[in-house]
Amino acid sequence: MHNRDWRTKSLLAAFLVCACAGIFCVSGLRSATKFKLHAYITSRVDDRTLMILDDRLDLTDATRVLGRDASGEHPMKAADLTPGMLVEAEGMWLDKHKFFPEKITVDLQQDDKRVHGTAYLQEEPEDASQIAGGQSGELKLDGYWLDLNTSTKRNWSMEKIAAKSGKEPEQLAACHVKYSGVRRQDGRIDTQEIELGPPASPDDYKMPHDLSVVRGKDSLTGINVLEFHQGKKIVARLKLLDVRSVQEYVSHLGDSLLPAGAQGTSRPIEFRFFVVEDPSINAAALPDGTLLVNTGLLGAIDNEAQLAFVLSHEISHVLQVHYRREVEETRASRVGLTIAGIAAGVFVGDAGIFLAQIGVASVVNGHQRELENQADRLGLQNVIEHGYDPREAPNLSRMIISRYGSRTTSKLWSNHDDSLIRGSFLTIQLARAYPGQNWDKARKNTPAFLQMKDDLGPVKIM
Ligand SMILES: [Zn+2]
Repeated sequence: MHNRDWRTKSLLAAFLVCACAGIFCVSGLRSATKFKLHAYITSRVDDRTLMILDDRLDLTDATRVLGRDASGEHPMKAADLTPGMLVEAEGMWLDKHKFFPEKITVDLQQDDKRVHGTAYLQEEPEDASQIAGGQSGELKLDGYWLDLNTSTKRNWSMEKIAAKSGKEPEQLAACHVKYSGVRRQDGRIDTQEIELGPPASPDDYKMPHDLSVVRGKDSLTGINVLEFHQGKKIVARLKLLDVRSVQEYVSHLGDSLLPAGAQGTSRPIEFRFFVVEDPSINAAALPDGTLLVNTGLLGAIDNEAQLAFVLSHEISHVLQVHYRREVEETRASRVGLTIAGIAAGVFVGDAGIFLAQIGVASVVNGHQRELENQADRLGLQNVIEHGYDPREAPNLSRMIISRYGSRTTSKLWSNHDDSLIRGSFLTIQLARAYPGQNWDKARKNTPAFLQMKDDLGPVKIM
């Protein structure tokens, strides 16, 4: 946290200077000041050069390399730096994409080969009976393909779930699974242990403070709006983009990307996709399945593959119950809430600020890294299965980096953590989970997307 604050402040200062001078100069951000990059190594060019997305890190004899584990920091050899490692590089920019690292610290607690985690099933597994019967089989989970063999330790019983949660689930989709295993060369996971758990409870998909999100029309202006209700009180109104064809296009695309098991949740989730008038390059998923896509995002993206990835990522936040997981750890929504009702004609100026006030800041600003990575893994798997070119996901991070001219921005999907760490994670995930795959023939764009861009027209992007 501390590092990030330091970086944010220095960048902000640099940005203000540039903005005052009337130029958005990238080099101005990179004066002789020290800078920290926090990201995954995406490739190793030779013994002297590492790549993080498009940035070259030139190692010299002056570069100190340290590994950090539970017991502290220890010296490491530069030769041991490999793709997939999460590093913090401290140093200076020499050129637009050239960085001189004085010190590189590797997070050794992130094991690249051993994989473990928890996730909710987003689909009904095809090999359900083999899995339950102790045989070999495969399971699609958490953005991976898990291979189970006869030596996989399993705790997999619907009866046990029934004993825990009071009733036997009708299907496996939406059930919780805990797993551990080892990543193979081909990207699949050799599963060592697997444990089935009950689905999330119906309350986990509720909006905090008994809020509900309702589509409406402002009585004074007739503008289409999204209203946040608390009982009979309207506490906020977001302006919806008033171009029906664009709304329909986004809804249609969103529906087409919903995983097969999206109906298996304990509370039926109605996924609803809304384009809201907001210039920031962002999208957000509320816990009840309401997805907000900003006009700024639609204006900035280049193709349908990018939008499909954003929507898939946001859908996963809902199905993986990330808001509830965040609340458990941060107690975000336990903050009391008293908002007065609002008069007709009053609109929320900044959706991000409003959503933070009601305790769902993480849906706009990004969840913890582990949860963002999970949504990214599932998002990549989903777009691949729908025939899209998944390389457009890291390209979206690249677009944001070049648009903002910096490695971090003030907020948003762009800083749904920062774009460099996300772009590098997506690149690494594609390389290790889908080695040797060729996506040259995969879909990037469609006539419907280009028509949507036409109908949208020029929009403000911030
Ligand atoms: Zn996210």
